[in-house]
Amino acid sequence: MDPCCNSQPAAKGERRANIRWQNLQSGKTFQENAVKQLPVHIDRYHVVAKTDRALHHLEETVSRAREAAEDLRRQERLQKGECRSCFYLVGRIGGAVVTSRPCGLCGEEMLFANTCTDVLCPSCSKSHSLCRHCGADLELRPRRRNFAFVEDENA
Ligand SMILES: [Zn+2]
Ligand SMILES: [Zn+2]
Repeated sequence: MDPCCNSQPAAKGERRANIRWQNLQSGKTFQENAVKQLPVHIDRYHVVAKTDRALHHLEETVSRAREAAEDLRRQERLQKGECRSCFYLVGRIGGAVVTSRPCGLCGEEMLFANTCTDVLCPSCSKSHSLCRHCGADLELRPRRRNFAFVEDENA
């Protein structure tokens, strides 16, 4: 995704407050202090390429959302012990550093090839029906009870 997509215009009140603050601090206007970006040269190649990319991104996103909504690879997902959100939607980008983390239930040390780690070991994930990556209910049922692993469950 283009980093420029993240920049949003400041809310009206916020903008006015910023102008005042900057005027007091540096005597410069909001516009003078703005980070300057270069213009994007728009020609037919740009439009064709961007349209192609946007369409591809849109189709991929919609198809991933459909897979997740309908749980189309359910067996594979359960095999992995992940909730639908983690399995279908969460990108796994982590720093390439060997990372260890103890399982959040049994404390067993787990080892990962990068910093995108799981919170539960496969065996605890399985026995408590929890997503091993994020710890949610494996079927995303809104659980209100049956937290067998919580000692003061009935307290
Ligand atoms: Zn465990
Ligand atoms: Zn999850």
